[in-house]
Amino acid sequence: MPQDAMLSAAAAEPVDALIIGAGPAGLIAADHLSAAGHAVTIVDRMPSPARKFLLAGRGGLNLTHSEPIDAFMTRYGLAAAHLEPAIRAFDPEALQAYAAGLGQETFIGSSGRVFPKAMKASPMLRALLARLGARGVRLVSRAAWAGFAAPGASRFHHPDGGETVIAARVTLLALGGASWPRLGGTGDWLAPLAAEGVETQPLRPSNCGFVVPWSAMFADKFAGTPLKRIAVRHGTMSLRGEAMLSRTGIEGGAIYALSSALRDTLERDGSATLYIDLRPDVDTTTLAAKLDRPQGKQSRSTFLRKALGLAPVEIALLRECAADAVSPADIAARIKALPITATATAGMERAISSAGGVDWSALGADFSLTARPDVFVAGEMIDWEAPTGGYLLQACFATGLAAARGMDARLKSGEAEA
Ligand SMILES: Cc1cc2nc3c(=O)[nH]c(=O)nc-3n(C[C@H](O)[C@H](O)[C@H](O)COP(=O)(O)OP(=O)(O)OC[C@H]3O[C@@H](n4cnc5c(N)ncnc54)[C@H](O)[C@@H]3O)c2cc1C
Repeated sequence: MPQDAMLSAAAAEPVDALIIGAGPAGLIAADHLSAAGHAVTIVDRMPSPARKFLLAGRGGLNLTHSEPIDAFMTRYGLAAAHLEPAIRAFDPEALQAYAAGLGQETFIGSSGRVFPKAMKASPMLRALLARLGARGVRLVSRAAWAGFAAPGASRFHHPDGGETVIAARVTLLALGGASWPRLGGTGDWLAPLAAEGVETQPLRPSNCGFVVPWSAMFADKFAGTPLKRIAVRHGTMSLRGEAMLSRTGIEGGAIYALSSALRDTLERDGSATLYIDLRPDVDTTTLAAKLDRPQGKQSRSTFLRKALGLAPVEIALLRECAADAVSPADIAARIKALPITATATAGMERAISSAGGVDWSALGADFSLTARPDVFVAGEMIDWEAPTGGYLLQACFATGLAAARGMDARLKSGEAEA
């Protein structure tokens, strides 16, 4: 695919379709529009495209989920009604077929999650970029969108301090959320859009870890230790999974699944307590009965290890978070519901995704901005969030395609401004 380090050539003539952001949402849009015969230019601030998509593939690319579509849609909470037309038009089966068309057969894992057989994102990305290149799509790197210029035009900043303007008949903003900012998506688009009168919601970490003020001794000894086969609970939500203790708190799959609820409680109350069940397969009475015998001269740790097979990290967690539990009944109750109080989210740096962004009220049904009808928006920069499980990529691809269909229709109807 031809890549321009600078924009001077691209800036001379208006392009048909300008796509800003080379992540999943922007790339599928480029695929659709170039297949429809439009001249497409993609611009990204990073030296190479789709860095977050590539990172997502490092731990096993979870492309989508195989559960029935009605259950699938509930994962988007309040945004489900807005996302539904796009996701039904490009559903999990369509995404799997799309991946297969790029040479990536998929399989359904034991949890119902769908992965490419290669597990990685790089083969799918390579195939897609090759296809775009063959259709003459241009990729301009190291140029950061800095807002709109005249109608139909966008301003870009270069690392050397220069600025370029590109005019386009239609433009797609697919700039991603604000998590993992060093991969390119920083949320810096929020202010220029708000200045245009586009309604936005604050960007907040989603699928993120939490800060827990561990004692120094506990953090020194147990940072990096996993908690396996646990259940976690916050409010009415509970699930089984795994977590990972960090020096400053707690993270991992089970915690991410509770994260939007925990974050909302934190924002409301200033702290949020989650409860860990260290022995989800054993009931409280059974645990208490096993503890109801003389401790003798054994230390408490030895007693707990021998009576219940608790690991050192579990014993230390009990000491850290339930030091007041002394009787067998109390200790058993805490093993089933160990209170962990989070004082903050762990921030955007390592969050999987972000919530907030362009408000749905600012968008038409075709994903164009009401304030700038030649500009369309797709992907994670729209105000929705979802748990991990493939729901994030599914919505990014589906909204990218929906926006591209809107852009195609606009270009074909000739209504777009030159
Ligand atoms: C560690 C990790 C693992 C993940 N694993 C999964 C998973 O297994 N399954 C899943 O469904 N989701 C996963 N996700 C989430 C998923 O990767 C994202 O939701 C998805 O990449 C968002 O796609 P997007 O196209 O909206 O934005 P992005 O992929 O973020 O792409 C946005 C692009 O816009 C560019 N950009 C941003 N601002 C500007 C600007 N001002 N000017 C020019 N360019 C700009 C960026 O450089 C970037 O290339 C994971 C995320 C992380 C961080």
